[in-house]
Amino acid sequence: MSDFQFDLFVIGAGSAGVRASRMAAGLGKKVAVAESRYLGGTCVNVGCVPKKLFVYASEFPHMAQEAKGYGLDVSIENFDWPTLRDNKTKEIERLNGIYQKLLGNSGVETIIGHAKLVDEHHVSVNDVVYSADKILLATGGWPTLPDIPGKEYCINSNDFFYLDSFPKHAVVVGSGYIAVEFAGILNGLGCDTSIASRSGKLLRGFDESTREFAQVEILKKGIQLIAQQPTEIIKNTHGYTVKFASGKTVSTELVICATGRSPNLENLGIDEVGVKLDDKGFILVNPQYQTNVDSIYAMGDLIDTPQLTPVALAEAMTFLKQQYHGQQAILDYDNIATAVFSQPNLATVGMSQEKAIAQGFDVKVFESDFRALKLTMTNSTERTYMKLVVDAKSDKVLGAHMVGEHSAEIMQGIAIAIKAGATKAVFDETIGIHPSSAEEFVTMRTPSN
Ligand code: FAD
Ligand code: NDP
Repeated sequence: MSDFQFDLFVIGAGSAGVRASRMAAGLGKKVAVAESRYLGGTCVNVGCVPKKLFVYASEFPHMAQEAKGYGLDVSIENFDWPTLRDNKTKEIERLNGIYQKLLGNSGVETIIGHAKLVDEHHVSVNDVVYSADKILLATGGWPTLPDIPGKEYCINSNDFFYLDSFPKHAVVVGSGYIAVEFAGILNGLGCDTSIASRSGKLLRGFDESTREFAQVEILKKGIQLIAQQPTEIIKNTHGYTVKFASGKTVSTELVICATGRSPNLENLGIDEVGVKLDDKGFILVNPQYQTNVDSIYAMGDLIDTPQLTPVALAEAMTFLKQQYHGQQAILDYDNIATAVFSQPNLATVGMSQEKAIAQGFDVKVFESDFRALKLTMTNSTERTYMKLVVDAKSDKVLGAHMVGEHSAEIMQGIAIAIKAGATKAVFDETIGIHPSSAEEFVTMRTPSN
């Protein structure tokens, strides 16, 4: 019989925390989870899910335009932001309820309140101290703002989901996933949108030709690029003025900063207990997600692994295997598929051409750039791009990249093939689905390099 109240005390009921706590309780462990803000964490409340609902909304005006070429006169008279915002919030509240039930039904004790480490086996929530054999930190991340005068006038990604009114003009600062997705949402729903990218190049880290292609298509939709660093935000009687490095100024109704996220360590007690961070400020863990304090573990956006919900879930499942199934499991972080829900989507799995070359592969590149059949009868000039990066020596497909409609949906299947080690010959032997855009992935025959 353990001396502790709980076998596992989880701090944070987000993607990682909910999965770890309910699965551990399902194995008969005595588990508690503390949550200070919202069940389901970032993904459910101010991330993936509400974002995707807004992306869907922003696609309708484009579709209405395209419908004209098919003889359908679909006119969009009005966009009512409160309807979209509040229907989204209702859906999120429904999901919060589901999470509550899932935790309750699995026997997890859910404690609402801010949790703080007391020592290596104790956590305090609402002035009550709980003891646990193991403590799992899963407190996620929090948006960071650029350090410029007037930064307090920016809203962050969390605020975007609850705006009182929909802006007529907005400046989105940043060039990553969130900036690009939010700019697409705003622009699609009729807001005059600028994206302020300090490098002038969107989506750093993705395959170079893929991100360049995506940038051209994203800007074609009407988003304006300001290739400069904002230096100051000034509040006016109505709206704001954003100043840029060159002296350029832009007047706007709303400034949204999407300039990255950092681990949420606020008042968590890690300094007091001596939990170490790495040089980027993430919690330092070994492949068992164990920190330098033996009984304390950390995962999800708190550690330096891809900040994606499926990764947080996989880390939780790996932790369970390691701790409670006695397995030596180690999570394989290679070939994680990911998508940017921009318009059009960008999706990718495996290595970029640049990374493959840097790792010493002699690569063959296969590319295709075409107008999707659906758009041929419309005024849309959008083009689709596909790319395979292949190891010339083994014929193994090292990476797949796509910009175009449904690329997230298509890439999930390609990810399975790449994870299974498919060669280009296997792609070539696969018979396509016709007519589809996806079939292009199995019909590219001539290398472009
Ligand atoms: P979180 O889900 O952030 O959960 C942490 C929880 O801990 C929160 O509920 C928080 O309230 C709670 N907490 C914090 N401190 C304490 C404390 N001291 N005591 C008690 N509770 C505490 N990923 C994708 O895969 N696909 C997407 O499309 C996608 N879109 C995104 C869009 C946006 C706008 C953002 C911001 C993120 C998006 N992500 C997406 C990333 C994804 O949301 C995160 O990677 C994921 O939520 C990380 O899970 P986590 O469990 O580490 O943390
Ligand atoms: P990202 O890391 O994707 O991008 C941050 C961006 O901020 C970079 O483009 C960077 O520009 C820019 N930046 C940083 N500091 C400054 C500054 N001081 N001034 C101007 N620009 C600055 O972070 P996000 O906040 O967009 O998203 C966080 C994470 O959440 C992502 O990495 C992703 O893992 C996850 N996410 C996933 C989504 C999905 O799966 N679809 C959607 C949304 C988020 P530069 O490129 O010039 O360095």
